[in-house]
Amino acid sequence: MSADPTTQSTDELTVTVSGGSMAGLFAGIELDDAGHDVAVFERSAGELRSRGGGIVAQRSVRRFLARHCAVDPAELTTTTGERRYLAADGSVDTARAESMTFTSWDAVYRALRDAFPDDRYHTNRRVASVSPAAGTATLADGTETTADAILAAEGGRSSTRQQLFPDATPDVADYVAWRGVTPEADLPPAVVEAFDDRFTFYQGADQLALAYFIPGHDGGTASGERRLNWVWYDALSGNRRAIFTDDAGTERRFTVPPGRLRAPIERRRRDRADSTLPPVFAELVAATTDPFVQAIYDLTVPSMTVDRVCLLGDAAFVARPHTAAGTAKAADDAVELAAALGRHETLGAALSAWDETRGTDGARLVARGRRMGDDRLGLG
Ligand SMILES: Cc1cc2nc3c(=O)[nH]c(=O)nc-3n(C[C@H](O)[C@H](O)[C@H](O)COP(=O)(O)OP(=O)(O)OC[C@H]3O[C@@H](n4cnc5c(N)ncnc54)[C@H](O)[C@@H]3O)c2cc1C
Repeated sequence: MSADPTTQSTDELTVTVSGGSMAGLFAGIELDDAGHDVAVFERSAGELRSRGGGIVAQRSVRRFLARHCAVDPAELTTTTGERRYLAADGSVDTARAESMTFTSWDAVYRALRDAFPDDRYHTNRRVASVSPAAGTATLADGTETTADAILAAEGGRSSTRQQLFPDATPDVADYVAWRGVTPEADLPPAVVEAFDDRFTFYQGADQLALAYFIPGHDGGTASGERRLNWVWYDALSGNRRAIFTDDAGTERRFTVPPGRLRAPIERRRRDRADSTLPPVFAELVAATTDPFVQAIYDLTVPSMTVDRVCLLGDAAFVARPHTAAGTAKAADDAVELAAALGRHETLGAALSAWDETRGTDGARLVARGRRMGDDRLGLG
């Protein structure tokens, strides 16, 4: 390795990736394909599991899957042909033709994980700290690994970001997202019919609910095999601490996972669904056995690179989910990084060009998400 990234060639780099979820796998696969020597370190011990389910399958994600994975993206996706807004009484307020493609987090994760070699995907290995100039990552067990570049793809609570930019902290919004995923087979036929082939919304004064079908647990996309994914954004009228304290009494900052909401919170949420949402949405909420709640927050960094370290995906920028762009952004970060390395002769030039374009795009997306959320929830 050259001592100075500004003179180091971009050919056949060694790359350490910290985090083996979406951003880490997109980057690992893309850079491996471009001829670099990549190792992924993921702190979780086993396979990662979906905590929510649904994601909009943006074009860049489908393109990535088609190019790198041994699956036809059409087999991992569901489609809708109409965007429909309901009125509070359940009647159709507006509807227009619109084609959308959806998938599930686990279907994309499985396809990506299958496309990256097992012998270079190390589980139960947490990166504890980095030395940006040296390109050294120190793992939680004390071992060190040195590479030409370190890609921190550690999600919204990235410890590498905290080390590099301690002031870049999540800015939490005044509303939450209640979420759930319900097997189609568990739903009354009238509910299935109401949501089938549609991206359905209800816009209330201080709330927004939406639902769409995604592939089933086993990836099935045929009628009867799918799951119905819903998100209900609701302005905080009560105590955030009470909502984010789980059934074991532990206060959490960003999410209470499926099945861990406290009974009084769960009851209050169902009552509010019954009294404020269109009946078909309230029925969907009631039919979901393990709903969960997520905080909504914005996060930006002043720079995506420091010496040999890059921040990718949610580790760098978290845009509110209204943008439906988190996974696509992670894919674009990876594709653009490989392209910059291909275009520039030195590592330093490639990373600074990548930082400039992806940093601008990331900040723009976060600003757009903030506007969309505050406008829709009436908080702007
Ligand atoms: C298990 C899981 C399930 C999810 N389910 C959904 C879903 O169903 N729907 C949805 O819309 N979004 C989901 N997300 C979020 C979604 O993946 C991201 O918002 C987006 O795709 C960007 O991905 P990311 O790789 O940047 O971050 P993340 O997906 O958050 O991944 C970060 C990864 O880094 C690992 N990590 C963190 N710190 C370290 C460290 N110091 N050393 C090594 N590894 C580290 C984490 O264990 C995690 O695997 C999920 C994320 C995870 C981790």
